Amino acid sequence: MANSILFLGRYICIRCGRSYGKKYTLNCHLRYECGMEPQFPCKYCPYKAKRRSSLKVHQLTRHRQELFLTRKTIDTNR
Ligand SMILES: [Zn+2]
Ligand SMILES: [Zn+2]
Repeated sequence: MANSILFLGRYICIRCGRSYGKKYTLNCHLRYECGMEPQFPCKYCPYKAKRRSSLKVHQLTRHRQELFLTRKTIDTNR
């Protein structure tokens, strides 16, 4: 792949310089992460995450209260 080089056993993305131990991980980075617009918008603020997992972390750290309230509302509606 033209977007990466193998250096000292690490696969390096030439676009941003990140290095990965596995080619598969680098390919994932190139496909879903590198140069991509964040694809997972937070519903509580204008933040957009690049990965579903980082959105989860963001919401757990920044919106613990909102998450708790949402769950509570769903419970009372039942
Ligand atoms: Zn990259
Ligand atoms: Zn947020």
